[in-house]
Amino acid sequence: MEYISPEGLRLDGRRPKELRQLSCQFGILAKADGSATFEMGNTKVLAAVFGPHEVEQRSKAQPGRAIVQCEYAMAAFSTGERRKRGKTDRRSTELSTIIRNCLEQTILLELMPSSQIDVYVQVLQADGGTRCACINAAMLAIAEAGIPVRDLMAACAAGYLDSTSILDMNYMEDSGGGPDVAVAIHPNLNKTVLLQMDNKIAVDVFEGVYGLAEQGCKAVAQYMRQQLLAHVQRLAVMRGPTRL
Ligand code: ADP
Repeated sequence: MEYISPEGLRLDGRRPKELRQLSCQFGILAKADGSATFEMGNTKVLAAVFGPHEVEQRSKAQPGRAIVQCEYAMAAFSTGERRKRGKTDRRSTELSTIIRNCLEQTILLELMPSSQIDVYVQVLQADGGTRCACINAAMLAIAEAGIPVRDLMAACAAGYLDSTSILDMNYMEDSGGGPDVAVAIHPNLNKTVLLQMDNKIAVDVFEGVYGLAEQGCKAVAQYMRQQLLAHVQRLAVMRGPTRL
């Protein structure tokens, strides 16, 4: 199968270094302390944050910091196959741990001792890159909940098909058998929070693919920052002038 046309276009018409269309919404769940959806093309995920609140299982409490619980799940209808997917299968358990790990590096846990933050991420529609979309949605929901962070966290993946590094693969591309390098960063701290890859990849190819994923993360971070700012401005207008 040809993934890049002679004109240099991908199956969905994108250029190799082009992200899919990004979209997000805030505060869509009334009962959560923070919630957000994040879309990368046809991949759509929802994140809900509860807390910080008192630790439910006392034995898990950390006197000097908050703990984070995270649950990743794919909706049965998310891939179109309507296959029931548990939240306890191996992949979901791995992703719950990965996302929790990213959030633990991002949230200022030491400011909330002996407390707990619960994060739920649900894939509503899967078209590749769900782990990165979930990390981005979780970050936005954490920000919406007003939880303090070290830096904004943004995630994006890149791959390699037809001897070309390509950004933000959709499911068709992801199924092409090439490497998939998922990266999450703290853009202002210049720190890599997550680096994962499946499939073997030559060192020189890896450098190009990793660099592209990092560029994608920076573009996603810029989009998230703009959207958060616009959301806060909307809230300020809705609440009206503050009386001192
Ligand atoms: P990741 O972001 O971890 O690489 P993906 O989003 O690529 O994961 O895929 C998540 C799961 O959903 C995988 O098991 C994949 O095979 C499946 N999947 C994703 N998109 C589709 C789709 N459009 N049709 C069928 N299965 C899909």
